[in-house]
Amino acid sequence: MDLKDIYTEVIMEHSKNKKNKKPMENPTLSELGHNPSCGDEITLNIKLNGDIIEDASFEGIGCAISQASTSMMIDLIKGKTIDEAKDLVATFLGMIKGDTIDEKDLDKLDDAIALQNVSKLPARVKCAVLAWHTLDELLKDK
Ligand code: ZN
Repeated sequence: MDLKDIYTEVIMEHSKNKKNKKPMENPTLSELGHNPSCGDEITLNIKLNGDIIEDASFEGIGCAISQASTSMMIDLIKGKTIDEAKDLVATFLGMIKGDTIDEKDLDKLDDAIALQNVSKLPARVKCAVLAWHTLDELLKDK
């Protein structure tokens, strides 16, 4: 399997779309995520209102897969509770690890399902999971 096979339209679209890539004033929480094997580096910002993720954004640099994955994740977690976001992280990481996941759980991942085939490209797995691990770290004490 070649890298170009997973560069579906939806991944390219997200990697070019900058709507989620912007600084945030006074984020409740920020976390730096780094993938040295590719050079991806993102800072994830979230704004909490109680246990609801009211807003999220990221800044940083990286390959198309890491940028698209981060943008897709931000689309998904906005408006969700912390517990719902943690559940999405577990589902996404399970999908990338190749675990068997219920169709209806996969549906919750929306556009991020486009990254499923990254599990067949071991060198790119760290790019795909970077944002999700960063979010997991960010919410670990919440
Ligand atoms: Zn990368």
